[in-house]
Amino acid sequence: MAEKGKLIVISGPSGAGKSTVVNRAIQGRTDMCFSTSVTTRSPRPGEVDGKDYFFIDQEHFQQMVERGELLEHASYVAHSYGTPRAFVEKQMDDGYNVILDIEVQGARQVKEKMPEAVLIFILPPSMEELRRRLESRGTDSGDVIEARLLRAKEELKEASIYDYIIVNDKIDDAAADFAAILKAEHCRFAHRKHLLETF
Ligand code: 5GP
Repeated sequence: MAEKGKLIVISGPSGAGKSTVVNRAIQGRTDMCFSTSVTTRSPRPGEVDGKDYFFIDQEHFQQMVERGELLEHASYVAHSYGTPRAFVEKQMDDGYNVILDIEVQGARQVKEKMPEAVLIFILPPSMEELRRRLESRGTDSGDVIEARLLRAKEELKEASIYDYIIVNDKIDDAAADFAAILKAEHCRFAHRKHLLETF
């Protein structure tokens, strides 16, 4: 049977470049997969249902919560987001490392349920740079950008539950940091102690 995969949680302000960093770091690897969340927010231009998110309405979201189908869930700037449990459990059982791109409240719930999860916080180089990135993305109104910046500040105060911090200044450096964390986690004593039995 395959060794059980790890759960890797990445968080950080919307606009910190989380998915770019992680996609760069895992390029060409076959042992990693992303969990696709459900959300009640509307798709942005170019976002694909079932790939970027499963876009669902509030009623459907509430049903999933009540049936215990979400590993964690939270609201973020007036919308609900959650991680479907079944996919994550199946992939981990099949030996894949599963990446969750979720905000801090969700990360806290995951840590409580699965203390062995690896929590990584990705920071933009500065608040000014974060504002610039959100504005240049051009997908959110001014009010939404302000709300996201405010939320980012709140999230930074709660970041002490994380195991690692990556600063996404240069994408290659940030991706190398991410790969190094995966490597270090792979070499953990707890992860490898079965090797001692062969000596
Ligand atoms: P966005 O609307 O920019 O795609 O995401 C907003 C925030 O929601 C981001 O910080 C993202 O990491 C977080 N998020 C996305 N999916 C989930 C989820 O399933 N659960 C939680 N708790 N947060 C999520």
